[in-house]
Amino acid sequence: MVGILPGFILRYILLNSYETRAISVRKTEIQNQCTILADHLLTYGYLSDQSSDVVNAELEQFSSLYDGRIMIIDDDLRIIKDTYSISQGKIMISEEILRCFDKVSLAKHDKINQYIEFTTPITDKGTGSVVGVILTSVSTDRIAETIRIMGRKATIFEVIVGVITLCFSVFVSANLIRPFRDINTAIIQVEEGFTEEKISVPVYNETEAIAASFNKLMDKMNTLENSRQEFVSNVSHELKTPITSVKVLADSLLSQENVPVEIYREFMEDITKEIDREDKIINDLLSLVKLDRSADDLMNISVVDINSMVEDVLKRVRPIADRAKVELILESIRPVSAEIDEIKLSLAIMNVIENAVKYNKENGWVKVSVDADHQFFTVVVADSGMGIPEDAQAHIFERFYRVDKSHSREIGGTGLGLAIARNAVLMHEGAIRVESSEGVGTTFTIKIPKTHTVTGKQQETRTEDDSKEKA
Ligand code: ADP
Repeated sequence: MVGILPGFILRYILLNSYETRAISVRKTEIQNQCTILADHLLTYGYLSDQSSDVVNAELEQFSSLYDGRIMIIDDDLRIIKDTYSISQGKIMISEEILRCFDKVSLAKHDKINQYIEFTTPITDKGTGSVVGVILTSVSTDRIAETIRIMGRKATIFEVIVGVITLCFSVFVSANLIRPFRDINTAIIQVEEGFTEEKISVPVYNETEAIAASFNKLMDKMNTLENSRQEFVSNVSHELKTPITSVKVLADSLLSQENVPVEIYREFMEDITKEIDREDKIINDLLSLVKLDRSADDLMNISVVDINSMVEDVLKRVRPIADRAKVELILESIRPVSAEIDEIKLSLAIMNVIENAVKYNKENGWVKVSVDADHQFFTVVVADSGMGIPEDAQAHIFERFYRVDKSHSREIGGTGLGLAIARNAVLMHEGAIRVESSEGVGTTFTIKIPKTHTVTGKQQETRTEDDSKEKA
């Protein structure tokens, strides 16, 4: 359209202005001729005697030159000369002629019938009065013919330009779009699993950028898929271990005859222990799933006295600590209250303190301190335990990661405690950090904002919940 439309507009403008210009040139030319003719008519006294050969020849020449008709009308409105000899001697009354006797000369263009009509007064130089009128009709056929020829040429030109423009635009657009098509095909192939290869269409910067973003997205999805698979296989393995033990214990009881009651009791105790372990793993998994999902759920936020919350947690851990002969110390540096979800955060702190007790040594200590500044509060859990090797520190928050698998199992660990703690802390937009040196001890620092800001996602669910409540 951009290529073809201007051609049509240009053709219209050019032909129109040519016509206007040609008509106006013709008008001036004929008007001049008519003025000269009027002079001659007076000079030869043609109005009273039409026998002058010179004037008659001039009139004939004029009419054949301009392909027109000349009529001379005297002051009685009689046609004294008609070059077509049709109306000679007749009376001619028309508005134009009457006005011409008032010295108004007119030129009228009739576009439909293609002629121009002129009225020229024949003015007596002596008296200054109009003694007659020259009525001239000139055909504009030739101008119209020229316009037709020009129009035809323009049409041919337009068709050629149109075809070239069309071919050119089809060719260019197909070429411009091809790289985007290629990238789409490549994405579809990856999506349908035909290829694992990274896509690359380095034709434009844009296609390159799209390919790079897509590859990044695929990497992320692969990582997610891998971690999902790993999680599922870890869960299956963890859940299977206690069941296998139970089966082995039960089978060995069944395979023996006349087993003494004490042995039964001992085996049953072991079976109960394994069932407890299975129960713990399932509970931990449920907490973890709940915390994962809670990102979409509503947080149960209230203002909580952090010092007494930590004290409660310590109270619950105390029996385990006493059994392990580990001393629990609470240091409340200042009273702190904050907007938190008490159940989730106390679960996180509980897991960290429990670990500090579990991975401690006999007669060791665990020191928990609560402090705050104007923006954040911190709960620091330091212990005098075995410490965590440097290369393991980056992994301890992963699900099912344990530094020493068999030791952790022995003391009832599931490898999920710190993953749960980390999720709960992140939901409060806080951070959990670990510092440790092997054989000396470990310090976990939990830092949480004192005021809870509702994140976009939570806000959404909150408004949803509000409207549900209202309904
Ligand atoms: P688990 O149920 O095995 O305790 P966690 O996720 O709570 O799982 O902890 C992951 C691993 O990190 C533990 O197996 C342990 O090896 C290590 N760990 C955690 N806390 C401590 C600590 N206070 N001192 C030494 N090691 C720790």
